Amino acid sequence: MNTPVRSVAPDASRFIPIERRTKIVATIGPASKDPEVLRRMIDAGVDVARLNFSHGTPEEHAESVDLVRDAANAVGRPVAVLGDLPGPKLRVSKLENDLVQLERGRELTLSTEIEPGRLGTARHLYLEAPQLAEAVAPGEVLYLADGKLRLRVTATRPEHGEIDASVEVGGPLASRQGLNVPGEASVLPAVGNDDIELLRAGERMRIDLVALSFVRSAEDVNNVRKETRLPLISKIEKPQAVDRQDEIIAASDLIMVARGDLGVELPIEYMPIVQKRLLRAAGRLARPSITATQMLDSMVTSSRPTRAEATDVANAILDGTDAVMLSQETAVGAYPVEAVAMLDAIARATEPEAPYREWNSERVTRAKVGPDYTVAHAACEAVRTLGLDALVVPTLSGRTARILSAHRPTVPILALSPGQETVRRCGTYWGVKASSIDRHATTEGLIADATRRVIELGWCTPGMRVGVTAGLPSAKPGSTSLLQVMVLGEAGAPWQDWSG
Ligand code: ATP
Ligand code: MG
Ligand code: MG
Repeated sequence: MNTPVRSVAPDASRFIPIERRTKIVATIGPASKDPEVLRRMIDAGVDVARLNFSHGTPEEHAESVDLVRDAANAVGRPVAVLGDLPGPKLRVSKLENDLVQLERGRELTLSTEIEPGRLGTARHLYLEAPQLAEAVAPGEVLYLADGKLRLRVTATRPEHGEIDASVEVGGPLASRQGLNVPGEASVLPAVGNDDIELLRAGERMRIDLVALSFVRSAEDVNNVRKETRLPLISKIEKPQAVDRQDEIIAASDLIMVARGDLGVELPIEYMPIVQKRLLRAAGRLARPSITATQMLDSMVTSSRPTRAEATDVANAILDGTDAVMLSQETAVGAYPVEAVAMLDAIARATEPEAPYREWNSERVTRAKVGPDYTVAHAACEAVRTLGLDALVVPTLSGRTARILSAHRPTVPILALSPGQETVRRCGTYWGVKASSIDRHATTEGLIADATRRVIELGWCTPGMRVGVTAGLPSAKPGSTSLLQVMVLGEAGAPWQDWSG
């Protein structure tokens, strides 16, 4: 499993060992909130640590951020922290022993108001869902725990805020797991006041990215955009969002195919095709994508994934996902480090087989061309025709790295930015390795320093052929318009006759 995957550049003699390009997001929870486990997970390949703000308190998440930062420093890998806002998800309250078994055929009551101090049991669950007893009728189904458990409503007592239901599909239910009412078009705002408060707490913890649950329109995203400068990840998990995928993707910085809720909100047989369409649409618009939920679900309790899971991860990569995500596997699972290592191994084995030539020229829409899109396309072409070893990308906002990444060049994208935050964000883009660089006033100075820096970092060696993107005037974000092709370490000789 440790065979280094090699570059798929056309000239076999110039192969250089490359790192995994697909990024790994891991949810931090009780199973991983430990300095040693975190260090091992990061060492195994975590690029983004996800904190699900639905579980735990802001204080606990602040601790997790510190632990992640310390572990990342100890390992010497940049790790971005993602704060995931709950959105209007219905969740059961805390349960007795944090876990109850719902048995098939048993009756239970759902109270739509949480009573302080009362813990949920197998006979009586509590959730904060005013009007739910009016909204559902006997005969309708309710799903718990991402659809694993199914209830059928037998009676409702709106005046008491109570719903009776029988368990049709039983199993374990944990504290704060979700309840889905399929088809119900929520009247709640996608990002309410509670979310904004959590967003502020996240900003104080210095998270790098924020995810919005149950986004339904570009407006939902734009409303949060007014509140924060953090990059926004739209979680696509509502049929309404699927219907408006392009406008939502265009309004977002990244998207997440949030299959946990999506697989309940949609008939599950449509989910595979919806996932493929979302990943393709994100590629067209040059927005990074994360594929989430149950990627290696059996590794919650087993040290090996199923064949189907390994295949699912590989297929998401071949469908163009930028990142693959672990939820329960690393939050509450028994094998958090092994799950990360498994994603890493599957990604490395899969990536060499991806359709790069097609991706380079067709993945990103060419209808929306700007100079930076054209330079990115040309850079992929230059990699192929000139046998470049890497693309060096000085970037202020991360935009050039993102656009290049979306074109899927066959060689590493080495992003250099003076902003620590940009460095961490760039690490979430497919194929991008990022580090810091000083600010420069002139483009010549920037190119000289960038090519020196990639050698200093040990990412390149003198004699390698690279393409460096830049723009004039320099020090202005979003101005990439040049591609300098050169041999590293040969100052004053940027171009050579490489035919001989
Ligand atoms: P979402 O819809 O946002 O994915 P989720 O409830 O599916 O929410 P995940 O983040 O996918 O939650 O995590 C899976 C499970 O891991 C949760 O249901 C919860 O039981 C557990 N979990 C995650 N984070 C924590 C935490 N910080 N503390 C306790 N349990 C956690
Ligand atoms: Mg989930
Ligand atoms: Mg969800």
